[in-house]
Amino acid sequence: AITNHMPTAELQALDAAHHLHPFTHGDALNKKGARVITRAKGVTLTDSEGHDYLDAMAGLWCVNIGYGREELADAAARQMKELPYYNTFFQTTHVPAIALADRLAQLTPYDLNHVFFASSGSEANDTNIRLVRTYWEQKGHPEKKAIISRKNAYHGSSMGSASLGGMSAMHAQGGMPIPDIHHIDQPYWYGEGKDTDPAEFGLERARQLEAKILELGEDKVAAFIGEPVQGAGGVIVAPDTYWPEIQRICKKYNILLIADEVICGFGRTGKWFGSETFDINPDVMTIAKGVSSGYAPLGGSLVSDEVAEVLNGCEFAHGYTYSGHPVTCAVALENLRILDEEGIVTRVGSETAPYLKEKWETLAAHPLVGEASVCGLMGSIALSPDKANRAKFAAEAGTAGLICREHCFSNGLIMRHVGDRMVISPPLVITKSEIDTLVERANIALDLAH
Ligand code: PLP
Repeated sequence: AITNHMPTAELQALDAAHHLHPFTHGDALNKKGARVITRAKGVTLTDSEGHDYLDAMAGLWCVNIGYGREELADAAARQMKELPYYNTFFQTTHVPAIALADRLAQLTPYDLNHVFFASSGSEANDTNIRLVRTYWEQKGHPEKKAIISRKNAYHGSSMGSASLGGMSAMHAQGGMPIPDIHHIDQPYWYGEGKDTDPAEFGLERARQLEAKILELGEDKVAAFIGEPVQGAGGVIVAPDTYWPEIQRICKKYNILLIADEVICGFGRTGKWFGSETFDINPDVMTIAKGVSSGYAPLGGSLVSDEVAEVLNGCEFAHGYTYSGHPVTCAVALENLRILDEEGIVTRVGSETAPYLKEKWETLAAHPLVGEASVCGLMGSIALSPDKANRAKFAAEAGTAGLICREHCFSNGLIMRHVGDRMVISPPLVITKSEIDTLVERANIALDLAH
């Protein structure tokens, strides 16, 4: 049998022989092998060689509650024994789906009181494409089809969600984007706003939405989608002027606003939802990741009372076998209970996020760092060879980030690189002393990369 006790090299050889990995070059697997992670507790991962890492990425921005919470495993086991599976199609339902829908309606802001379940953020965003178009068809405007998104956005990996996303490397493979999806520039002031005032820049970028709506025609546009903070694009926080202007434009031209909260949701920004942090009032909200802290695959689209009322006027011919899977719903409920009852989200807002900000921003003094910024428990640094001019590394994009990431690994820290930006998104249970360790190790890695 293949177990944790096998030599790492053998596991890596088997892995390279049979396992196609997401976002991984095959050559890298054959040359070096993948890092084999064997167990985890709290904020710490352990690999097959016995090395520990502070996981400053919470897996893929998802293990909000931290690793090793047995209550979630128990909730899954209980549900598997009682009712391991049933679907929610064709007028059936079950208690875990009812209870989770009810809980989400209580937790989400405004009147986002209705949820369509999926198993991932990608599936939820695919749902959103059909959902917003169906909404307009139901309202007698079938020509309102276009969805406007942003360059460098990440909304998932399926055909629909990756088309919504604005990742050029993804669009270059496999025939994307699908029709009727348009991209405006991102509100990335540090990288693209050089000589402008941030407030002006935020307005200018938001007004690109208005220009795009006018170009396409107001009667052709169904929705705008955006992450409150662009996560996979490099933790890019828009200037304060951006979201109010986006909101105003969506209202003025009668287009739906979709907040993709897959990363920002469930405490990441210091409130339950990024929409609360940035005062966004969306019609549709995408959730995944932190809703179940990654212990079971779950995503969903939350919609407002008005959107739900229109959708309920027809049969929405859409659904996944695992929409509202009872086991994942039970796990999510337990996760949300703990996040709430242990005050984990509240503590992020009042204690750990301000502490991370204070510590993380000291990295800006490093000669390699052009910018160090934080939003809640998400942080980023921009690596620059000439910080006074916010220069980018001339070599292949991402080289400096990749080197820095490898130094992090060798020093017991998992950070991710997005081109020349290094990003973090640690479990929300991280303590102040673990934040000290995180920043110390990041400093060491930066010194070594310099
Ligand atoms: N939306 C955002 C903002 C994300 O960050 C991600 C994943 O990173 C997704 C959607 C896609 O979610 P999933 O990987 O669960 O399909």
